[in-house]
Amino acid sequence: VSVWASVKAGPPDAILGITENFKADTSPKKINLGVGAYRDENGKPFVLPSVAKAEEILFAQKGDKEYLPITGLASFDQLAAELAYGAESAPIKEGRLAVTQTLSGTGALRIGMEFLAEHYPNKTIYIPNPTWGNHTAIAKRAGLQSEKYSYFDPATVGLNFEAMKKDIENMPEGSIVLLHACAHNPTGVDPTVEQWKELSKVVKAKKHFAFFDMAYQGFASGDINRDAFAVRHFVEEGHQILLCQSFAKNLGLYGERVGTVSLVTASPEEKARVDSQLKIIIRPSYSNPPIHGARLVSTILASPELKAQWLSEVKLMADRIIDMREKLYNKLVELNTPGEWGHIKSQIGMFSFTGLKPEQVDELAQKAHIYLTRDGRISMAGLNNSNIEYFAESVSKAVK
Ligand code: PLP
Repeated sequence: VSVWASVKAGPPDAILGITENFKADTSPKKINLGVGAYRDENGKPFVLPSVAKAEEILFAQKGDKEYLPITGLASFDQLAAELAYGAESAPIKEGRLAVTQTLSGTGALRIGMEFLAEHYPNKTIYIPNPTWGNHTAIAKRAGLQSEKYSYFDPATVGLNFEAMKKDIENMPEGSIVLLHACAHNPTGVDPTVEQWKELSKVVKAKKHFAFFDMAYQGFASGDINRDAFAVRHFVEEGHQILLCQSFAKNLGLYGERVGTVSLVTASPEEKARVDSQLKIIIRPSYSNPPIHGARLVSTILASPELKAQWLSEVKLMADRIIDMREKLYNKLVELNTPGEWGHIKSQIGMFSFTGLKPEQVDELAQKAHIYLTRDGRISMAGLNNSNIEYFAESVSKAVK
């Protein structure tokens, strides 16, 4: 008998399973709208030209391959934090922001939640309903319980702000509240600036802890400062936030696994203590992070020309997605598709929550070779001028 004879088969990953089905489909018409990775106008993965330039610079520098420190490349940590918080942010200027390089956003979430599980008195994290599927799984592995708060209203395909606020008010004092900083995944629905201001007040009144996940800075509006509004506002309002930052989407560095987790502390002395505990979590997990992606990001952010180029490339990606939203909306209306489709245009970021039912999603896969998650979420980045008409026609048929 094999040692593993009693190991049960687990369920496939909901999103990566879709890619498997897509790959197995031989139709030339097939479209994959499942995975959250940007695709260019030809449906191909996109290496940002600013990243390609940074690669050339690094190649010419012939750097060594030594280990990084446990908390990563220092120049990267500094520049990444400035990008998120703003260079003039008080915790950065006052040397009281604890930052460490992580294995992209997922690694940031894991290290951040493990830190809270060990050092924060409250062990329940409240996540929006719905949220990115991995949040619950990461919380569990990190030793936190998770509960949901109201977020999305299927009736309006928009934010249920009143219910969200009420739920946050009703959480036990000092709860951990996970907030998507911008471009909420999977709904594409974000609070407005005014609503963020109100949320900051409610979170403060209840002495809650704000845990931000920012995987899409720049992707929502095309403007990295605008997309960082919520994070910066909370910090200005005195919240000691935790922030998870990913460079997967906005720099197209998916497979390089580069991100940060940071915590606002009260003083440089407190920061040093927090840093020491972050190291104690990271060292037995993976010792220290990979070097290449951090060097790429650092090279781009440290060069005014490369940074400007990158910012224009982020805007290009965001604008292409916004253009696809407009075109999809117009096409659905033109085809007299039953239902209200305004949300396709008003939603933000990589994803759109279409409102398609699970059976309609199945029908799209079987009859039209179009693949998306059963909650009706589509990755807008998978659409382009060559496939958008076919997609709109197929959706129209599926709902009629
Ligand atoms: N958080 C959210 C909300 C996401 O959508 C994602 C990616 O899809 C991540 C975090 C983490 O991604 P990564 O680990 O690739 O940075």
